[in-house]
Amino acid sequence: MKRIIIHWSAGGYYPTDFEKEHYHFLVDKDGKIHTGKFRPEDNEFCKPGRYAAHTGGGNTGSIGVAFCAMAGFKNSAQTGNFPILKKQFECAMEFCARLVNKYGLEINPQTIMTHYEFGLKNPRTTSAGKIDIIYLPPYPWLSRDDIGSFIRSKIKWYKIKGV
Ligand SMILES: [Zn+2]
Repeated sequence: MKRIIIHWSAGGYYPTDFEKEHYHFLVDKDGKIHTGKFRPEDNEFCKPGRYAAHTGGGNTGSIGVAFCAMAGFKNSAQTGNFPILKKQFECAMEFCARLVNKYGLEINPQTIMTHYEFGLKNPRTTSAGKIDIIYLPPYPWLSRDDIGSFIRSKIKWYKIKGV
C-alpha cells in the first residue's frame, strides 16, 4: 500500500453497509474501528466491484479511513448534528499510526492526506472539490489548509509514543 486517504462519511455516527463498501476502516463516534467490506490489499489492483471506491482517481494503493460523521455539514457555522468528536478523532489518529507501522508507510503529504488534499493535487479527477476534511470540529481554529499537516503531526505523535 502506498498511502492513507482520510475522509468523513458525510453520514451519521455509525457506519452503514453502504459506507462499509466504500472505506476500508470506519471510525464511529466512540472511536471504535469498524472494518469495511474490502481489505486494503483489494485496492492494490482495483478490480471492478472488488475494491473500496473511496477516492475518485486515486483508489489504487490507497487505504481509505473514514470518520463516521458530518451529515448535514454546511460550513463552520452550520456543522450539522454529527460533528467529528475529539475521542473519535484521537482514536482514528492512533489507528492510522498502527496502519503506518503495519504497511511501513512514511508520514508525509504524499503518504497521508485528506480527500480534500487529494482533490487539490488532482484537479482532473472526480475528487476535485471534495470537502472532507475542510473543518475539524474539535479543533475549530484550524484552517482547511492546515488540517492535513495537523493530522500528519498527530499520527507522528502516536507513532513515536508507540502503538
Ligand atoms: Zn472522501
